[in-house]
Amino acid sequence: MNRSESLFEQAQKTIPGGVNSPVRAFKGVGGTPVFIERADGAYLYDVDGKQYVDYVGSWGPMILGHNHSAIREAVVKAAENGLSFGAPTASEVEMAELVCDILPHVEQVRMVNSGTEATMSALRLARGFTGRDKFIKFEGCYHGHADCLLVKAGSGMLTFGEPTSPGVPADFAKHTLTATYNDLESVKALFESNPGQISSIILEPVAGNMNCIPPVEGFLEGLRALCDEHGALLIIDEVMTGFRVSLTGAHGHYGVKPDLLCLGKVIGGGMPVGAFGGRADVMQYLAPAGPVYQAGTLSGNPIAMAAGMAQLNLLREPGIYEALAAKTEKLALGLKAAADKAGVPMSVNYVGAMFGVFFTTEEKVTRYQQVTQCNMEQFNAFFHGMLEEGVNLAPSAYEAGFLSLAHSDADIDATIAAAERVLAKIAA
Ligand code: PMP
Repeated sequence: MNRSESLFEQAQKTIPGGVNSPVRAFKGVGGTPVFIERADGAYLYDVDGKQYVDYVGSWGPMILGHNHSAIREAVVKAAENGLSFGAPTASEVEMAELVCDILPHVEQVRMVNSGTEATMSALRLARGFTGRDKFIKFEGCYHGHADCLLVKAGSGMLTFGEPTSPGVPADFAKHTLTATYNDLESVKALFESNPGQISSIILEPVAGNMNCIPPVEGFLEGLRALCDEHGALLIIDEVMTGFRVSLTGAHGHYGVKPDLLCLGKVIGGGMPVGAFGGRADVMQYLAPAGPVYQAGTLSGNPIAMAAGMAQLNLLREPGIYEALAAKTEKLALGLKAAADKAGVPMSVNYVGAMFGVFFTTEEKVTRYQQVTQCNMEQFNAFFHGMLEEGVNLAPSAYEAGFLSLAHSDADIDATIAAAERVLAKIAA
């Protein structure tokens, strides 16, 4: 038994399932999760001393690579003044100005501690502002684990959502309407059958929780137009895509204006940070300026602000997103070529510093339904084969992969070479 295996056995005695967040447990792909000791640049090092090229990046924050010196130094410097004050600080003001400066549609912003808090609070605000309870989400999009967001499409003729988890009352799920991603007609139909009742649409502008699915042409623009027509707010959840698809996120990349924007991951540089912001008239509805309540003891934490600002300031340097996009394209096309060479059917999607590989005969994957029909056995074999080769991919066929600035051409070439070996075995 190696150290990861014995730690996992030990962990399961005191931590449910041995992990503090479910997807880490390798439930979908089987086997024992790798316990990490340290990380640097493009690499993770496990507790048994093995090195991995990492394409998870702590699920998104590590866009500059792990353990970046500027971020580490900013954190250490901030920590010298104390860890938390529960009172306003200059660094929060600086962070808010930085975010509003980079993102033109964010006129005001509120800091929170996770992506879940960001989406949950943005939805409450949208409901409070419009005085409407219902909202639309898309099947396959994930927005954190708030009750009303853990909802799937109701079956048959029902338009009511159904809880995806015990503990979520059906009464909480019934205001969640579920539409099909990349299908404007499904959204139109919901607006028509619920006139004047829909507060908002929340979506991932590039879906990253059903592998990686960019919006088809006209989809985001169509949602914007439907919201305008029906007096609903467009909530763009950029927890994953923010400062990753481009400096101005996916909404900037595709040129669509949100009413509210949710942020997380990259904005904290690895510290627990989320944020939501947008139109000033809507944000002014938030306590203490307005009536919609939202709060947080550790929100705007000075260490977290220092880490986030250090990262965002580095990301503003020219050429960063061109470099990230070029690395991502090289990897995605390299993986596809490796699959073609081995004769394993594969489709790839990529945008900015996000990518996804699909084990499917379909040429292009644009719908959740197609993702569910991918060959999961091949994905699992690919995941474990790559891990064995020293390449860390997300342990689920429903997660996007992430590049960082620290991934060198040599890292990417080595990853593609590893994929050629693994895919040849899968084909055999
Ligand atoms: N929204 C999106 C799009 C996400 O990908 C995630 C997490 N992966 C969340 C919200 C929730 O963020 P957190 O895990 O920080 O609560």
